[in-house]
Amino acid sequence: MWIDTHCHLDAPEFSSSLPSIISAAKEKNVQAILLPAVRAADAQHVKDLASEYSNEIPGLVYTLGIHPLYTNQAQESDIDVLDKAIEASLNDPRFVGVGEIGLDYFVEGLDPRQQEHYFHAQLDLAQKYQLPVVLHVRRSQDAILKALRQRNIPGGIAHAFNGSLQQAEQFIGLGFKLGFGGAATYERALQIRRLLKDLPLDSIVTETDAPDIPPAWLREEGIAFNEPAFLPRIAEQLSKIRGVSHSDFASAAWQNTMQALPRWQSLCASNTTLSQHP
Ligand SMILES: [Zn+2]
Repeated sequence: MWIDTHCHLDAPEFSSSLPSIISAAKEKNVQAILLPAVRAADAQHVKDLASEYSNEIPGLVYTLGIHPLYTNQAQESDIDVLDKAIEASLNDPRFVGVGEIGLDYFVEGLDPRQQEHYFHAQLDLAQKYQLPVVLHVRRSQDAILKALRQRNIPGGIAHAFNGSLQQAEQFIGLGFKLGFGGAATYERALQIRRLLKDLPLDSIVTETDAPDIPPAWLREEGIAFNEPAFLPRIAEQLSKIRGVSHSDFASAAWQNTMQALPRWQSLCASNTTLSQHP
């Protein structure tokens, strides 16, 4: 049983083919997927998608937030919109946290002050509701660690992690798990591969970031974009790099995720198929 802790099922790439994307994931035994919202206005849409496909993917969940790359479209009132959407979702078992939020100092043309404003306001919401967060961390590890330390946030996931071992250890110390996916399938990804080997196994979670972060074989095989059905094949490569069996890696990735996002664990515990996971 596989878990994809980061998949943008609401992306335009999937809009015309979502039922078959979901069926393909189910066929590959991907039983749980986290869909992180990227705009305040998308809350209802991601909530609807999670419930619509929950028969096929019983562990389909979502988070609510404003992605750093969308902060240039955001308005001050979006924080209030998000606050109300979070409050209204607290009784929905498929709502598991605040995200995708963070800072991206790599992509050009984004105002860092504006990003920081929305990031800090959303961390304040996570603190207010005591919810874990799903983080987008790109060239911004230290700024994010500093903002986390100024608050009392109950951990979460730093997705597509690509920092140093020392930064990774600081995230782990703050209750975070680190997301690994297609980036590690490239032989030249030495730093990420090294992290996969050196980090404690109980700090690692699996993700596709579909439709983004294509695994190495995608272009060779002429496939246009990443999808959640590719998670087991990505994870197989990750487990080889790590030097653990495929099944031990699957169990660890599942359990680590449930530790980081306790509302997801509650949902799985109430489902007869998912609660049988080792
Ligand atoms: Zn994302």
